[in-house]
Amino acid sequence: MTHSPILAAAGLTAADLTGGTLAVRSPIDGAEVAKVHETDPAAMPAVIARAQAAFRAWRDVPAPRRGELVRLLGEELRSAKAELGALVTLEVGKITSEGLGEVQEMIDICDFAVGLSRQLYGLTIASERPGHRMAETWHPIGPVGVISAFNFPVAVWSWNAALALVCGNPVIWKPSEKTPLTAIAAHRCLERALVRFGDDAPEGLSQLVIGGPAIGEALVVSPDVPVLSATGSTRMGAIVGPKVAARWGRSILELGGNNAMIVAPSADLDMAVRAIVFGAVGTAGQRCTSLRRLIAHHSIRAELVARLTKAYASLPIGDPRKPTTLIGPLIDQASRDRMLAQLAKAKSEGGTVHGGRAVAEGVPQGGAYVEPALVEMPAQTETVREETFAPILYVLGYETLDEAIALQNGVPQGLSSCIFTLNLREAETFLSAAGSDCGIANVNIGPSGAEIGGAFGGEKETGGGRESGSDAWKGYMRRQTSTVNYSAKLPLAQGVRFDV
Ligand code: NAD
Repeated sequence: MTHSPILAAAGLTAADLTGGTLAVRSPIDGAEVAKVHETDPAAMPAVIARAQAAFRAWRDVPAPRRGELVRLLGEELRSAKAELGALVTLEVGKITSEGLGEVQEMIDICDFAVGLSRQLYGLTIASERPGHRMAETWHPIGPVGVISAFNFPVAVWSWNAALALVCGNPVIWKPSEKTPLTAIAAHRCLERALVRFGDDAPEGLSQLVIGGPAIGEALVVSPDVPVLSATGSTRMGAIVGPKVAARWGRSILELGGNNAMIVAPSADLDMAVRAIVFGAVGTAGQRCTSLRRLIAHHSIRAELVARLTKAYASLPIGDPRKPTTLIGPLIDQASRDRMLAQLAKAKSEGGTVHGGRAVAEGVPQGGAYVEPALVEMPAQTETVREETFAPILYVLGYETLDEAIALQNGVPQGLSSCIFTLNLREAETFLSAAGSDCGIANVNIGPSGAEIGGAFGGEKETGGGRESGSDAWKGYMRRQTSTVNYSAKLPLAQGVRFDV
């Protein structure tokens, strides 16, 4: 099978695809699609210096004008949506509608950021001293490093870049080494927007660097990259976070999740089943917000498992480009090996596994296709407490809501959570201070597929970062408190006297 038409339609040239050292394989069939050129680690100081120089010019461009650049980026993405979506499908294995959905998410954040460019609001604050005015102003902070994961190969960049650019900062992006092609194609959209934007965009405003952890490391340790946004595994965050802190930088960490749904006795089970299936098997379980734990009330647990087993049996697995497919491949064979190993471990801990076998028939050869797995567990064991980036859903039972909330919170990760209930008391308790400890908590909606309007991120080992909507933009700016004395006296705060 040739992938050339998709690569060409996305604007990738022979120079992009050949002659490099980084082999790119499509998870659809494992075929090598390209040999991409990697950035030389020795070039990184110059990359960062260019971003610093760009910063000195870009911070003086008025924010609404900076928003115009992001508006143009949104236009470029709109016109490239089909081609970029198809490339996401080719490089990550997402089904067609999810590939397109990822590009739509980029368009949405651009729209959000354009509006934001006229709303970087500060505060005026009541001063305790007469004839004084206090204010809080948000200023650009400097180059923002973006390290992204394979599973949202372009959307994560756009959540960061659209905000960082309107906030007055240059961006240096290191995508996953598994997905450089979508990164090159998406970055070209910004390059086209820059050409249309005109001369007040400095050279080096947005740079793309390709490679593995060593390239990321250069951004992590540089004091000239004041904000480092890193999305990926908790293992990566545990290395990156302390290094950024050691040089007094700011990190925005978006790490692993282990997301749960509580299903209460009053739940609308038809809705719950639909939400569970999309949450657990959508993107072949490779979303940071994928549903991984189902905490079902004992009174409905057996019925729920029966309905899910039936729904799972009819899910079309295969080539993600086919319009009928709902489950595409895992990113690679190593990922499938890990899924199978985790299922064996869950079995040894007393789990009963439904499905979860490797699939070889009716799918393109060379890809890592699996049946999604439903695993009934006697308790929240060590395996259940780990994030396995694959379609495994562990099922646990509960008697009281307190018990369910304790199970939901009893894992190291804290990204997304939800409850299905028609009982107002249960819903509000779940959302209260004593309820879910996650960054995202939903009622009668699954844990995945967040809209860009809200702040996105989670607590505990998920890293504490927030991106996208709400006031996440503040993470890309520095706050300045200023007091102006327009009186003819010099009173000190707190009544302190110091007469000289
Ligand atoms: P990964 O941790 O293997 O890699 C992520 C990125 O970090 C890659 O670009 C990689 O090159 C880079 N990296 C790895 N080690 C590094 C180091 N020491 N220094 C600098 N950079 C380094 O993750 P992955 O397999 O690509 O993605 C899957 C993981 O990402 C899952 O755990 C998933 O939950 C998480 N994720 C989280 C979010 C979120 O918003 N919370 C979103 C998407 C994915």
